[in-house]
This record gives sequence, C-alpha cells and structure tokens, in this order.
Amino acid sequence: MASDQEIRKAVIIGSGPSGWTAAIYLSRANLSPVVYCGAQIGGQLTTTTEVENFPGFPTGIEGPELMTHMEEQAKRTGTEIVYEVIERVDFGQRPFKLHTSKTEMLTHAVVIATGASPRMLGLPTEQTYWNRGVHTCAVCDGGFYKGKTVAVIGGGDSAMEEASYLSKLASQVIVVHRRDELRASKIMADRALSNPKIKFEWNSTPHEVLGDLTGKFPRMTGLKLKDTRDGSIREITADAMFLAIGHNPNSKFLGGAVATDENGYVIVDHHQKTNIPGVYAAGDIHDHTYRQAITAAGYGCAAALEVERYLTREGLA
Ligand code: NAP
Repeated sequence: MASDQEIRKAVIIGSGPSGWTAAIYLSRANLSPVVYCGAQIGGQLTTTTEVENFPGFPTGIEGPELMTHMEEQAKRTGTEIVYEVIERVDFGQRPFKLHTSKTEMLTHAVVIATGASPRMLGLPTEQTYWNRGVHTCAVCDGGFYKGKTVAVIGGGDSAMEEASYLSKLASQVIVVHRRDELRASKIMADRALSNPKIKFEWNSTPHEVLGDLTGKFPRMTGLKLKDTRDGSIREITADAMFLAIGHNPNSKFLGGAVATDENGYVIVDHHQKTNIPGVYAAGDIHDHTYRQAITAAGYGCAAALEVERYLTREGLA
C-alpha cells in the first residue's frame, strides 16, 4: 500500500477495460502505476454475461472472467492495486492530490477511467421498489425471478441483451420501449424479436411502479405505462423491471476539477488530454458514442502512452 507522502508518477482511477489497459502499458513502461479500483472492481463488464465481441476469444468469454484476466495482467506487469474509492481530487496543485475516505495520494499524472453507471427513470416509486422488483442488472438479480414475468425498459443493445438473458429464467419478458423502432443493432434486435418468450410494449414508458407494501418488504406487482403518443395510461402485470436506458458518466467525484460537457462526460482531445495538463481520461467517462470494452481498452492504451510522453517531457519519468 502506498504511503500518504510518496509522490507517484501515475495514478489510474477506475478498474474497467480502460483502467487496466492503461495500467498494463504504464507498468511495462516502468512507471509503477497505481490503480484505484473504485466500488465496482472490474467495472460494468462484471455485470454482463458472455462477451462475444472482444477480439482474441473466438468462442466468447464471460465478462467477469475477462476483467479478472486484465487485473491479473496488470498485477503481473507491476501495477499496484488499491481497493479503495477516490472521493475527491485536487488538480489545482502539483503534484495532484487524490483523496479516499482514509488516505491521500500525490501523483504527477492521472488517468480518469471511472466509466459510467446505469441511468434511472427518476420515478419516486422506482426508489420504493429498488432491489425489490426494480433492478439494473439481469445477470446479478435475474435469478430472483425464475418462472415470473419481468419487464425490461429500453430499446438498445443493453435492453435486448437483458431481455434475452432473462428469457432463459422468466416465464415471460416484456420489453417496454418508448418508440416503435429499436435502437439496438440488427443482430441483437433480431434475436430478441424472434424469441417467443419476449413480447414488446411499443411507444410506452413506465409511469409508476405498482406493488404491495403490506408485507415485511415491498414487492413489485406491475407497472403503469404511459403511451408516448397520446398520454393514455394502462397497467401491466410484472414481478420486476430491469432498467436498460443508458448510462451516466461517473464524474461527480471530480467536483468540476476538469471540464465536462453538459451531461457530465469529461471532455478530452484526440490524445485523451483533459483541460488540465497531466490529467487524461479514457473509456466511458468521456466516450458516449462507442462505449465498447475494446474501444475503452484502446482509449486506456492511448492515455497511458500520452502519460508516458507527458512525464518524459516534464522530466518526471
Ligand atoms: P443506448 O444505446 O443509449 O440505449 C438506451 C435505450 O433506452 C434507448 O432505446 C432509449 O430510447 C432508451 N431510453 C433512454 N432514456 C430513456 C427514458 N428516460 N425513458 C425510456 N427509455 C429511455 O444504451 P445501451 O443499450 O446501454 O447501449 C450503450 C452502448 O453499449 C451502445 O453503443 C451499445 O451498442 C453498446 N452495447 C453493446 C452490447 C453488445 O454488443 N453486446 C451490449 C450492450 C451495450 P431511444 O431509442 O428512444 O433513444
């Protein structure tokens, strides 16, 4: 564990594909990087099933296994790993100062690789039934709904992936989508559309989560859906709702220390540079376009190479 006083050359905040790739490159460049893993070690891929599109795995690989491989590779190349969460940063001083709830870390360069988290609808009842019917990860919580009816909200690849996964457990999956056309890629959409256990509620969005509050724990029983064309309300029965409506970047902890866009995504140039020299960003924290494991890994590589150049240029390597 690094001490409070030591000045590190490079610290990576986040342990998804971008963070581990940056770590592998920086450790191989003898820059002794430190990775702060954050609350979800391995990031979003630890909540997914089979990854079929990461090159090098012709028969696919489970998301958590892929992340464990990356962590092992980073460790083997000499990365120091800290299983803590960076809660606050100070980029107004040099070296930069990073704070967890317990310690501080000084570093000459930083790679922000904190990714993004699932978006919520913002309904008050969503909180009432949170983890009691309302979920964001089918792989994590789908097992509670074997033989039951579940809804999946969204029309993108995540929603189709969640729906296909849940169809193996639930008796029925209802995809609720706000338009009459899916955003998902053709292969994912076709798979869900041809699945007899998946039905679609088009032009609809959840208006209220319905449930039973009389027992020891709240229990979801259905959804009020609003028709996005005429505003009419109807009810469907469902034991759970899995939200798959996109993500929000995990940038709040930065407290405005680097420039972000209006949605909170860190702004980088073509070399992964933020507006603060020595601070770089990689992966879903800045990329709202591709958001793939392989692109995140690529951005992590680019950020690491830029950190190396920066440290050399500044005489800090
Ligand atoms: P996404 O593509 O942004 O799709 C989000 C979906 O949620 C859209 O259908 C959107 O509707 C809907 N939505 C957003 N806000 C909503 C709201 N407030 N109420 C109701 N519906 C709402 O997000 P994603 O599916 O998480 O995918 C993100 C990226 O990851 C994509 O690039 C995707 O290709 C990739 N991905 C790939 C795989 C894979 O290849 N295996 C798996 C998962 C994700 P509209 O369509 O009307 O905007």
